[in-house]
Amino acid sequence: MDTLVDSFGRQITYLRLAVTDRCNLRCTYCMPAMGAAIVERKELLTFKEMYRITRVLSELGVNKVRLTGGEPFVRKNFIDFIKMLSFNDKLDAINITTNGALIAEHIAALEASKIKTVNLSIDSLNSESFAKITRRDVYDKVWNTYKLLEKSSLRLKLNVVVQSGVNTHEINDFVALTEHSNVEVRFIEEMPFNGVGERSTKEVWNYNRILQEIKKEYPNLEKLPVPKSSTSHGFGIKEFAGTVGVIPAYTRTICHDCNRIRITATGLLKNCLFDEGVFSIRDFLRKGASDDELKQLFIDLVAKKPKDGFVAEANRVKNKNVSESMSSIGG
Ligand code: SAM
Ligand code: SF4
Repeated sequence: MDTLVDSFGRQITYLRLAVTDRCNLRCTYCMPAMGAAIVERKELLTFKEMYRITRVLSELGVNKVRLTGGEPFVRKNFIDFIKMLSFNDKLDAINITTNGALIAEHIAALEASKIKTVNLSIDSLNSESFAKITRRDVYDKVWNTYKLLEKSSLRLKLNVVVQSGVNTHEINDFVALTEHSNVEVRFIEEMPFNGVGERSTKEVWNYNRILQEIKKEYPNLEKLPVPKSSTSHGFGIKEFAGTVGVIPAYTRTICHDCNRIRITATGLLKNCLFDEGVFSIRDFLRKGASDDELKQLFIDLVAKKPKDGFVAEANRVKNKNVSESMSSIGG
């Protein structure tokens, strides 16, 4: 079987697919208050196109897909798309990243599908501070989703973007959740993908600083083995039901065994989060490409995957500054 291998010998097995660039929230680290620039509907990939892209990639060895956005549940008929994708028997797992405000009534449907894990983004456990971060008053809905997911058969991970002076004092409150709940709380370094064109974040709370803070309260924090191609470094605390993860998203120490590619909501293939998009798969499809042509295209594009996020960033041509919103890239 043809597979997707880059020039550093890394095999691509994981697709992150942004199903929309729209979102119901306005998180400060992701987009400006008026929202990120969104494209016309016809520029978005259709579910049929996403299904086809995923099928072709799965025939090239991709066995895991993360559905993200924007907010995936904002897109009409998203649950039908999940059902459709669940028929692909080459996929071992489909995961979702969501802000959780719109999903309470869909949890049973998710359990009945191929969805294995839900990553729920929740940056504060205080409703006022949550509203400041997301610029929307939906904390109670998101907390309710957390409780429902905790009871469900789905594996649950919490995504917490760490911002100094905003939620750093809550880091250990999040860790405390793992005492009785079988959840993985993942602290993410903030990246400059906020739709306003800042070259780099001024965030000083990086991987090491976050870890120091946790160790102050939990000196017995134990490092867990890092699974191959994991974005997160895991830690456990004796007798706690859940685990803690720290994601060096900006300091980028996880690139050496990266197994991921991204497809944005408009169908741009990204070999790396930090590149500016290497090819419009959407336009190629809409010109009538066959499955074999599409396969060859993926093989050729993946071969050019940059060594790491720093090289990808340095190679940017059109827009040197990392300025996109994470909602259009697909986080
Ligand atoms: N709307 C969904 C959500 O928030 O979970 C899915 C899309 S969101 C872009 C995916 C993940 O990216 C979320 O966990 C979010 O917190 C994270 N994210 C967004 N902007 C980020 C940034 N500038 N730095 C680090 N993580 C970011
Ligand atoms: Fe929306 Fe997710 Fe970005 Fe927040 S992080 S604005 S929920 S896409």
